[in-house]
Amino acid sequence: MPHSLERCPDCSGSVSKCNSSRSRIIEDLQEDSKPSVTEHVLSRYWCSHCRKKVEPVVEDALPDSQIGHRAICLAGMMHYLQGTTLSQILDVYNYHLHFPVTEGGLVQAWHRIGEIFRPWYDGFLNSYGDGSERGAQTQSVLMTIMCTLKMCGHNPVQILVDALKSYVRSGKLPPLPTKITANG
Ligand SMILES: [Zn+2]
Repeated sequence: MPHSLERCPDCSGSVSKCNSSRSRIIEDLQEDSKPSVTEHVLSRYWCSHCRKKVEPVVEDALPDSQIGHRAICLAGMMHYLQGTTLSQILDVYNYHLHFPVTEGGLVQAWHRIGEIFRPWYDGFLNSYGDGSERGAQTQSVLMTIMCTLKMCGHNPVQILVDALKSYVRSGKLPPLPTKITANG
């Protein structure tokens, strides 16, 4: 899949195309849980304002991650919401879904998204008036967010995937889904 750029992702200034590109492979699970492997071809550009090379942003995965958002969030939901053990998840992914992941890869990815979603978690604590759990572990952050989304009638995986895409695109986490802030 080729990606091009009209404006600099950092300063929105105009860019000129360089004669180089790189390819980035992202593996993910589709909505029907079938694995997909996508090669993204990223052309490089020069931003004369930032005075650096820039490239198009691929919103389907976190920077430097080869695993897409959905595969990470789905495994996270199995673990943090449904209580599936890590070794069971590895079985399901590696043998049933034919999606290769390692324990270290998954845990590291959960830590990353736990940090990204921490502002939502802090938002919940403010809404419910308990400030004692600041500095919480990835586990409580993701568990709380997924439980709350589910209780409010959302599909936790879809909400997190959309929020991560927006985060990768803009560098900012979107606001909490309205149904939750309205209740809080
Ligand atoms: Zn720039």
